[in-house]
Amino acid sequence: MNIVLFGPPGAGKGTQAERIMNQFNLTHLSTGDIFRQNIKNETTLGLAAKTYIDKGELVPDEVTIKMLESEVKSHPESDGFIFDGFPRTVQQASALDGFLSSIGSSITKMIALDVPKEELIKRLLARGKYSGRADDLDEDIIDNRIQVYLQKTAILADYYNKQGKHFSVNGLGSIDEITVRVFKELEK
Ligand code: UDP
Ligand code: MG
Repeated sequence: MNIVLFGPPGAGKGTQAERIMNQFNLTHLSTGDIFRQNIKNETTLGLAAKTYIDKGELVPDEVTIKMLESEVKSHPESDGFIFDGFPRTVQQASALDGFLSSIGSSITKMIALDVPKEELIKRLLARGKYSGRADDLDEDIIDNRIQVYLQKTAILADYYNKQGKHFSVNGLGSIDEITVRVFKELEK
């Protein structure tokens, strides 16, 4: 089983991904977390990603795709993956399909967490107080991330819809309530 966990910044992907990972024995790959780890360790990849992340822009497709493929390959024992925060563009989604197919695999479902914009901004600003993430502290950067999501990423709902793999979940409510909804979609 390979799941794309989809939704705008602040939708709760990371939180729900942790729970899905434990329940379904999947490997959680958050491209944002991997970038932040690389920035912390001052790797070449981290240096390349930092300028984009600080502005709330997307790291270029070729960099992100290459990193994602290498992460998947480094978990040959895995029963499947939860992709969190990836893909973010049609090019990335299509590269992911091609790559998975080359290793005899595919995306099972895309689960989209639906959360209105006002709630996203509220959650991101709240997270900024403890996350140490500069891109959560500045309302202009948050705004830009949401704009980028709407311009480049939201269209992926159509991409997965065409494959009959797109499922929407209401992302408002308690964390537990949302987990119940997500599990229900995954168990279908
Ligand atoms: N980012 C990116 N490509 C990715 C993942 C992250 O360009 O595949 C960058 C982008 O600048 C984004 C930031 O990293 O705004 C934080 O991403 P993350 O997914 O951690 O944040 P979230 O959207 O979950 O709040
Ligand atoms: Mg996240």
